[in-house]
Amino acid sequence: MSNHALQNAAEILRKSRCTIAFTGAGISVESGIPPFRGPGGVWSKYDPEKFEKGYFKRHPEEVWHLLKEIFYDTQARAKPNPAHLALAELEAAGRLAAVITQNIDGLHQAAGSKTVYEYHGSTRRMQCLDCRTFFDAATISLDILPPPCPHCGGLLKPDFVFFSEAIDFDVHREATELAKGSDVCLIVGTGGEVMPAGRIPLVTRNAGGTVIEINRFETRYSYGFSDIFLQGKAGTMLPKLVDLILG
Ligand code: NAD
Ligand code: ZN
Repeated sequence: MSNHALQNAAEILRKSRCTIAFTGAGISVESGIPPFRGPGGVWSKYDPEKFEKGYFKRHPEEVWHLLKEIFYDTQARAKPNPAHLALAELEAAGRLAAVITQNIDGLHQAAGSKTVYEYHGSTRRMQCLDCRTFFDAATISLDILPPPCPHCGGLLKPDFVFFSEAIDFDVHREATELAKGSDVCLIVGTGGEVMPAGRIPLVTRNAGGTVIEINRFETRYSYGFSDIFLQGKAGTMLPKLVDLILG
């Protein structure tokens, strides 16, 4: 990746009237949260079928042990990294309209980002499948699994999208509208393989916008689709880019 590409990207982002960031698991890897795919990814160790809603309802105790191990034990320790902080800085400077994230870890908000669309929900909320009440996950003890609903004793489920569950329609609609009205979509740390989220950058592109991508490795976007591909770690590349934009 040439320095020229980075300068070019900064120039485009400086001129943009409306920029969105579209992020995935890769932006949180440097915070110690493993991605789903690839070496060390969650799916190399756990069976994705266990995160299907019907399976969860039939085997809540088994799945809750996995949820605790994969998400709650790691995320409790995870802190935002320089990539999350750089996006929050860009928003605070009035140069970023929103973050549309596929992540469920809440690290964008922890970094200070205000306008965050959580396309796949969040582990930070739980919902009772019986009485439908939502709870802040921090208030729910995981000493007993599955944790009972504090209101009715029913089954709590983390409020992120399991397999066979639908995407929240409002989030989908709002994120798509925003993508359509943006001059630039800045993709960070996602292979874009999960649909329909992966189409967000295409919406910006089809409406005449520019796509800038940061990823440690090549993705299906990198060649032929992204206007500029900045290859590198999000925690290194994004702060450099933001310094150039705001500098
Ligand atoms: P993915 O696991 O499919 O891919 C991760 C991407 O990040 C890859 O393209 C990889 O090359 C890139 N990457 C890895 N390390 C990087 C780094 N340091 N800097 C920049 N890029 C890096 O993730 P995905 O495409 O986001 O899709 C998987 C789905 O899994 C998402 O929908 C999301 O809901 C979920 N997920 C979320 C989390 C989280 O909340 N942190 C973690 C794992 C999976
Ligand atoms: Zn309940």
